[in-house]
This record gives sequence, structure tokens and C-alpha cells, in this order.
Amino acid sequence: MSHCILQIALDTPLDSLFDYRWACEPGSEPQVGQLALVNFGRREAVGLIVAVKHETDVPADKLKDAIAVRSQLSPLPERWIALARFAAAYYHRPLGEVALPGLPKNLRLSTTVALDRALKKLAKLPDAHDPMPTDMPVLNAAQRQAADAIGGALGFSPMLLYGVTGSGKTEVYLQACAQVLHRDDAAQILILVPEINLTPQLEANIRARFPGVMLATLHSSLSEGERMLHWLAAHTGRARIVLGTRLAILSSLPNLKMIVIDEEHDPSYKQQEGLRYSARDLAVWRARQLDIPIVLGSATPSLESWHHAQTGRYRRLELRERAVRDAVLPRVKLIDMERDKPKEGLTPTLMQALRLRIERGEQSLLFLNRRGYAPVLCCEACGWISNCTRCTAFMVLHRPERRLRCHHCSLETRIPHACPTCGNVDLQPLGRGTQRVEEGLQALFPQARILRIDADSTRRKGSAQEAFDTVHRGDVDILIGTQMVAKGHDFKRLTLVGVLNPDTALFSQDYRASERLFAQLMQVAGRAGRAGLESEVLIQSRYCQHPLYGAVMRHDYDRFAGSLLEERHQAALPPYMYQALLRAEAPELATAIEFLEAARDAMPSDAVVINDPIPMTMTRVHNVDRAQLLVESNSRPALQAFLTEWVEALRALKSRVRWSLEVDPLDI
Ligand SMILES: [Zn+2]
Ligand SMILES: [Zn+2]
Repeated sequence: MSHCILQIALDTPLDSLFDYRWACEPGSEPQVGQLALVNFGRREAVGLIVAVKHETDVPADKLKDAIAVRSQLSPLPERWIALARFAAAYYHRPLGEVALPGLPKNLRLSTTVALDRALKKLAKLPDAHDPMPTDMPVLNAAQRQAADAIGGALGFSPMLLYGVTGSGKTEVYLQACAQVLHRDDAAQILILVPEINLTPQLEANIRARFPGVMLATLHSSLSEGERMLHWLAAHTGRARIVLGTRLAILSSLPNLKMIVIDEEHDPSYKQQEGLRYSARDLAVWRARQLDIPIVLGSATPSLESWHHAQTGRYRRLELRERAVRDAVLPRVKLIDMERDKPKEGLTPTLMQALRLRIERGEQSLLFLNRRGYAPVLCCEACGWISNCTRCTAFMVLHRPERRLRCHHCSLETRIPHACPTCGNVDLQPLGRGTQRVEEGLQALFPQARILRIDADSTRRKGSAQEAFDTVHRGDVDILIGTQMVAKGHDFKRLTLVGVLNPDTALFSQDYRASERLFAQLMQVAGRAGRAGLESEVLIQSRYCQHPLYGAVMRHDYDRFAGSLLEERHQAALPPYMYQALLRAEAPELATAIEFLEAARDAMPSDAVVINDPIPMTMTRVHNVDRAQLLVESNSRPALQAFLTEWVEALRALKSRVRWSLEVDPLDI
């Protein structure tokens, strides 16, 4: 028996490529892209074979044998490995740390029981080979044009589908999919959506439209068994449509022929921990690599994508009207809270509008992006406030649960009976969250059916879907919710949207805050009047003259985006600048700053601007102090070249400080 050497990528934080010996006859070596089980340190681990060689620098007495090769699984395609290599290089992480977490957990177990079971299950699924769609609705002219442009596109063609809320973007995607599936009888299509709670509706639509096509879904709320089965369905090419959240961008799709990214502006396409990748950006890279069309859809595109459309890198497709006959965009009005004084957080104008909807049997939605009862509890006698002992943050009052909770480190305490400093028993909630608004509404409208939807009310698995079903059935008069309710949902009888307290974002330090607020307001406003009923959006504000609100009132994304881009250009911010952020964490702020200063001085450069270290806005979280250092350049290649060397220099510092590098950060 002779041997070959397998170069295997393992999920490790530093260099991730390791050589192992494998006994095999010449000509029957394992293939690149297969998975293998090996001993690593004191544990067994599954890795990805990235090269098969005959020589190694590892001394013979140190070279270990691989334990097993997962021969029942077809190799991951070379193009998939190339995607992982690209992501590893671009985000400056080891290959194994990118490639392996993208696989289902059950594929990475020591035993193959779960894999064998899933393969058996997959083999038993009936074959679905009929791409013919059922019940294709008639499109309006703009939709038709967009669907044909997308469905007929060949080669790498990035398209921005800019369509107002309710303009029927989903229908455009579905009809474009039909064309692609019809043209190529092996074609796979990947559809990405920002949130799981948006998938059930779309999933049902796709199943109904393509009954003869296998659909796989990939998102974080699947069980491991389900995830494995769906991943395999995609990997074997049997699933023709794959619908998923950001993690689905790393799925193996051997016959991928089109990518759709719905709500492409949504921040949840960005992973915020570990490998901080942007699924949208990786999708564009993947489409280019495979030379296939990709469509990015939004009513409020990200400024990056809008800029690409302006400069001609993306083709712009437009849907300027609502698709349902007679459905017009809701009228947006501002309520000046300085003149129209609120009670229980609601101005008389908004209360009157709610009353009118209840009388008419129509639904209302109140949007407040702050969960809990009140953001802080305080003592007016001595000035005590409910600070978190571990974070630079307040403990949020959750009255129904009788708790104070920190939303950053999850610290929980009982609500104190009296002020911990002076003993005053009259502690006051300050400000207003969704729970408090709900309580106020119940007092104001005792007969109304009121439902709150936020992260607290939907903790149990499946409860979010139940709550949305209740709204769809019409069993709710007033819905109150956070950004969870702003997206995607098509509430038929909703004719009033009230927006409470959006002003804080106007004065945020985060330069992206106004872009986000605008997108959020347009989205939530878009929930109203989708079925053709006359509807209105009322925004309560103390800054009614602010140009952002003017743009929302006119539904004028174009001009607003134009002015923001102009500002970004003046201030040399993305998309005119490329950025990377080095973060450091330590028990003491000084230690974190010291590390960043050493990092700043480690490698002077003329090609990039290395800023001074600063504490993060929320400095302390869970007893750890955090600081950051921004690196920027107007050239992406220059920034990338710098980062590649810099990461090596940072490792050579051998600091005990925990640090991480983020490329194209969203939050600065
Ligand atoms: Zn006190
Ligand atoms: Zn905390």
C-alpha cells in the first residue's frame, strides 16, 4: 500500500492548513473538496481536503494519518472552494475558519450516522422535474420589463431592482426564476432574504408557484437534521431553488445560475461576529465568478448599490408604482409634538386616527424601535439611574416580567422596591418602550384588540409566526412592534401606520444612521395601503423641519440618496472610501488602547490612513472595555494589500489582548 499526503483545512483561528498521510493505491487518491476526519490536538475534527500531494515538509515522525475520508459525500466543487478562499483572503481569516462553519454541524461530527441518515432520506424524496409554474399573475408593464430583463440576462450582469414598497418585486423575481428554470433543466437559483420571519410567506409563495420543483431552505431556525437535509439537497443539485438568510450564501450549489437578494440594503446581511462577512458582497463576487446574473432588490437601496447603479456598474430596473390596482402610496404626515402634546406617548392627532380605524374595522400599526417598558428606571430624589454594572448602558425596565434587563450583556435583576442609594420608594420609569405603549393603548382603547410583536413577545420558537398569522387573520386592531414588523409583511387591512419617537437617529454619531432611518421609515410606511384602501402614515416628531422627513413625505428616495451621497463624497466616507476596523478588548481600557497604539505604529504606510485609537461609543460590555482603530483608503486594492501584511505584523505583536479585524464595517 502506498501513501498520499492530504492538505486539510481545519476550523482553527490561526493558520488552518495541515498535512496528513492517507494510505491508498495510486490512482485512487481522495479528491480535493472531500471531507476527512482527522486527529487534531486531543480531539477529532472534520476538515476539508484542499490539496492532494505526494510530498510534505512535515517530518515523518510528526506526520499523522487521517482517520477517514467521507467518500459517501460528493466533493465540494472547486468553485465553492474558490469562494471560501476569496472570503478568507478578503476578510483576512484562515481558510478553514471560513469554509467549515459554512457547513452543517452534522457534517462535522466524528460519526457519519447523521450524514448517512440524511442521504437515505434525500434519496427517498420524490423527484421533482417539472419547472412549469402555476397561476402566473399578469404583470404590469414595468414588472414585465424587469422580469424579462432579469430572466433573460446571460453572463455576469448585476442588476438593481429599485421598486417602491408594494410594487410587486417578489412577483418579478418569481417570473424571472420561471424563465431561468425553463431554459436550463438543471439550473439552481439562490434567493436570499434578510430575516427568517420573512421566509414563511415567501416560501409558501414559491412552493405554490413551482409545485414540480424541489425547494430547500437554509436559515438559523432549522433543526440540525433539517439543515443537513436541505444543505445536501442543494449540494447534490436536487434542490432547484434555495431560499435562505445570509448563511445560505456559503452553501454548495453546483449548478447555480442566478442569485436574488431581496431587501439588499438590510444590515442583517452583514454577519456581526466571527467572520464578519457581507452576504450581499460575497453574492456579487460569486455571481461574477460563475458568470451569472444577480439581482439586488430594494425600495431603499444601500448607498453602495445605488452608487453602483449611478455609475453604470449595476443595471437599474425600476418599479415606480404599486402593483395592486388602485393601490397608491400612503400619505405621510408629520405631527409636531411641540404643538400636539402627547399623552401616553400618543398625540391627540394619532389617537383620533387610531379611533377612526377601530370604528371602520381597519388595522393600525404603531412602530417604535425600542423594546421593554422603559429604557431606564430612575430616582428623582437622588438622581440614581439603573445603570448596568457590567456595561456602559442602562438596565431596561421590563414590567410584565418584573425585571431590569441589560440588552447588551443579558444581566437581569429584580426591580428594586426602593432606590438602592437613598431608599426612596418612588422610582420612575423614564422614556417609553413597546410594553409601555401597549399598556397605554389598553387604557385608551379598552375594547380594541392590541398585539405587541417584538423580540420579547416572540422568544418561543414559532411564536413570531403565530403572532403574524393573528394579524393576517384580522384578529388584531392595533399592532405595536419594533423593526420586526416593518419588513416584508403584507397586511391586507392595514391603513394607518404611526411612528413614535424616530428623532434620536437624526442626531446619532453613526454616519449611516440617517440612511437607516430613512429605509426603516419607508419600509414601515410601506406596510400601509397595500390592498388599495386609502391609508396614511403619521410620524410624531419634534424636528418636523428636518430634510429627512421631507424626503419621507415625498417618498423621494432618489433625491435623498443623491444628497446623502454628496455628503459622503464631501466627507470622504464610503462608498467613496474603503475602510477596515481593528477592535481590541481588554479588562481595562488603557490596555486595549495600548495594543491599538502598537498596532498603529507596527507598520507605517503611505497608501492608507491609519487613524488614532478611540474607545468604542459603548465602551464597556460585560466587564470588558473596547476600543477601535479605523484604517481607510480610497483604493480597495491598496487597503487590501496593507491589511494582508498588517495582520501578520499584528500577530507578531503576540499581545494577550483580544483583537479582531473587520473589513467594510457597518457600525463605526
Ligand atoms: Zn435615590
Ligand atoms: Zn450589561
